[in-house]
Amino acid sequence: MTLTKDVIRRLPKAELHVHLDGCLRPQTMIELAQTAGVRLPGGDPRSLADAMFVRNAKNLEEYLDRYTYTVALMQTDVALERISYEFVHDASLENVRYVEVRFCPALHTASLRLSQVMEAVLVGLRRAEAETGTRATLIVTALRTMAPSVSSDLAHLAVDYREEGSVAFDLGGAERHHPARDHAAAFAHAARHGVHCTCHAGEGDGPDSVRQALHDCGAQRIGHGTRIHEDATLERQVCEEGIPLEMCLSSNLHTRTVTDVASHPLRRYFDRGCVVTLNTDSRLMDGVSLTDEYWLAHTALGFSRSELDRLILNGFASAFLPDDEKTALMARVTRELQEIT
Ligand SMILES: [Zn+2]
Repeated sequence: MTLTKDVIRRLPKAELHVHLDGCLRPQTMIELAQTAGVRLPGGDPRSLADAMFVRNAKNLEEYLDRYTYTVALMQTDVALERISYEFVHDASLENVRYVEVRFCPALHTASLRLSQVMEAVLVGLRRAEAETGTRATLIVTALRTMAPSVSSDLAHLAVDYREEGSVAFDLGGAERHHPARDHAAAFAHAARHGVHCTCHAGEGDGPDSVRQALHDCGAQRIGHGTRIHEDATLERQVCEEGIPLEMCLSSNLHTRTVTDVASHPLRRYFDRGCVVTLNTDSRLMDGVSLTDEYWLAHTALGFSRSELDRLILNGFASAFLPDDEKTALMARVTRELQEIT
């Protein structure tokens, strides 16, 4: 049987690395912009989606501008709840069964307190989860460019809401010249209170950045890890210890972390037995769905159907969920994968 994109869309999937502020519906942006008085670079959904697509950015400033637009629209509880709710609905349409969505609450405090920001997003996720059956949890992302005291506040926030669906603490933002070890205290606080840790590393900087994430900050997963292969010892360690890598093909192309898909290390890591997972990073700015990313792995990197199934199961197995819930979810997904041909 030939593998088609429609078959991939029907496969149950998990997504572990996706930014909420990169996943707004263009129509929603237009509606929210009217209320918020924000001028957007496109007046209808199609031209706006085109303008937000990162491949059309001429330089870094234009790329960052795109997030300025979405973040400006995410400053009220009503907007945050709606965007979170719609995100889970959109993910469920391509049969994403489990999603960990991340964002930096400190960017949404123009008129809200951090607790209000968290509650609005969690309410949106819960409402969509109840309607779609897609399980949705939250990762709190701190930014490397912010002061370590802000990261610590955010780690406290992740801990405070762990009963409500906040499962992990993450560090993102400009990687080079902003070492993860500066934020080690925030990671330690999260870990001490049973909140998982992941960290963007090996995307904008090399192997030393990944080592810091693992050894100084105790990250249990690595966001991207694209450049790990530059250091053979580190690559072997990551593979042997089964540290899951949250990989994003299209995003790495758009940020020029790799020059073309063929040279992306996803295939190499997979063949070496690393626990690699596939994710979008952002659906609006990268112009992709999770189905598109799996399709790209198939068409550009030669992943067979059984290898795609392995990637899918890696995603579920690497989820920051309690073991019993994860086992039940994986048993159901394994059965369904066998039934879809
Ligand atoms: Zn990311």
